[in-house]
Amino acid sequence: MLEISDLQAFYGESHVLHGVNIDVRQGEVVTLLGRNGAGKTTTMRSIMGIVGRRTGSIRFQGQELIGMAQHRIPRLGIGYVPEERGIFASLSVDENLMLPPVVKDGGMTVQQIYELFPNLQGRGSTQGTRLSGGEQQMLAIARILRTGADLILLDEPTEGLAPVIIEQIGVAVRKLKQRGFTILLVEQNFRFAATIADRHYVMEEGHVVDMIPNDQLAANMEKLHEYLGV
Ligand code: ATP
Repeated sequence: MLEISDLQAFYGESHVLHGVNIDVRQGEVVTLLGRNGAGKTTTMRSIMGIVGRRTGSIRFQGQELIGMAQHRIPRLGIGYVPEERGIFASLSVDENLMLPPVVKDGGMTVQQIYELFPNLQGRGSTQGTRLSGGEQQMLAIARILRTGADLILLDEPTEGLAPVIIEQIGVAVRKLKQRGFTILLVEQNFRFAATIADRHYVMEEGHVVDMIPNDQLAANMEKLHEYLGV
């Protein structure tokens, strides 16, 4: 579904990605693991066309994204939930859910969103700023699900959240996988990643240095600790 090959990315003169190769198949949950600054967020931003310059190839359902106008990329059905979440803090939950443009048929209804994230149910008139960090993260994911995107890029959805909320986000991601969504996820928390992902790519200094299938994660734990410095 998504094939990234020899991706190089630059912020001005700064060369950040040095030939990244990643494949994500339809229906998979795949994580990008790696230390701070490894290039995980830049990889996601490259997919969305929001880095200064990128070369190489990023193909989504056979279509080349490099060279494509930035505004066309979400319309292909790719949704991005950035680390900073990107909800409208001054608007209510319902307003946040009504605003995203439907880019493709098949976006989830508000009712389906509430079934996926029961914490948001009954909070429709609550202002974004009054939500907890976990509820804001759920709302950020929900907004993207409204658009009809079927490839979802999640940048550190668990960052700063309590274990019980991380567990709820894990439940939601597993339900999304069951519904057929494809998910690429940046994670620092590999214990969480292990509960939801099919495969893990490990990044270091702008390269992919390893790919570990989830069922081989336990056998690779020592190596992973070294990669992540934990
Ligand atoms: P983190 O978890 O800290 O976000 P990451 O693996 O997602 O880490 P990136 O955010 O992709 O890493 O950063 C990769 C490199 O690019 C880092 O060296 C970072 O300092 C640099 N970088 C990121 N954003 C910019 C920018 N806007 N301008 C210049 N350099 C940047």
